[in-house]
Amino acid sequence: MESGKKISVVVPCFNEEESLTTFNQTLIRYLPENYHYEIIYVNDGSQDHTLQVILTLAQSNPAIKYISFSRNFGHQNALKAGYDFATGDCAISLDADLQHPPDVIPELISKWEEGFEIVNTLRNDHQSISFAKKTSSRIFYLIMRKLSDVNIENGMADFRLIDKKVLKQLKLFNENYLFFRGIIPWMGFRQTVIPFTANERFAGTTKYTFRKMLKFATTGVTAFSVKPLRLSIYLGSVIAFLSFLYGLYAAYVHLFTDRAVTGWTSVIFSVLFIGGINLLMLGIIGEYLGKLFIENKRRPNYLISETNIE
Ligand code: UDP
Ligand code: MG
Repeated sequence: MESGKKISVVVPCFNEEESLTTFNQTLIRYLPENYHYEIIYVNDGSQDHTLQVILTLAQSNPAIKYISFSRNFGHQNALKAGYDFATGDCAISLDADLQHPPDVIPELISKWEEGFEIVNTLRNDHQSISFAKKTSSRIFYLIMRKLSDVNIENGMADFRLIDKKVLKQLKLFNENYLFFRGIIPWMGFRQTVIPFTANERFAGTTKYTFRKMLKFATTGVTAFSVKPLRLSIYLGSVIAFLSFLYGLYAAYVHLFTDRAVTGWTSVIFSVLFIGGINLLMLGIIGEYLGKLFIENKRRPNYLISETNIE
């Protein structure tokens, strides 16, 4: 039965020429027949033939929309563009490499039909995901939970469904350092989570280099919490207290013994230690200051060079 409702699918693509055709076929196979759909491919400044592949797909199917960036603006900004232009009654985002299995989509939709406004997914780690990726992601989520007030579960993925009500609110988020995995749980609404098992990448290699991952992790923490700044207060107090004790000891040595010149090791040690902590704290403050500086410019999150959306 035709419901008259529309599903938007948002797919960020960066150098995915080898995956896209198969991805598109698989995706369409799993979209329920009783809904209209649109698929928004966001070409995030790919250097291969991703755009050409998308153009070919769009020619044969009017439901396929595309947005092509003027350069690489990163995964989260590509997602944002897709959400910004999505016109459906709900929007589903997933990766173009088939690691987020499209066969889970009917499940996402049935949760939505049950009345959930946000359906998150949680990646079950198994052998197809490398040990390094598993470990780094576990550590990241642990730090995230400790340092921010948002409860992000292990393996939370950018594979989710959001209702148009949520989409409308999400369009108002114009921060430059986007971290949807933090924003979405923070938003409230009726949320639920379903697990999925990630496939191996269909083709190509991961577009998240170690550098991108580190940048993403820093953003995750600093965009969500000022707790790292508070760290300097705690560390500073502990060190000040220890220094005070050591001062007492130094005074004792000076006044009551004749060993007063032998303090070289401890002097060097404490100078280096305090110096190190100082640099660390300056770095943390600098990170926030830098983000304020960029955020303050209110620059757009992405620039579009080509699109078939009016
Ligand atoms: N991606 C993007 N811009 C980037 C990096 C990645 O649009 O700068 C896309 C990529 O094409 C894929 C998704 O984001 O659809 C997730 O990237 P990837 O699969 O490389 O990450 P991984 O699954 O290894 O974490
Ligand atoms: Mg992937």
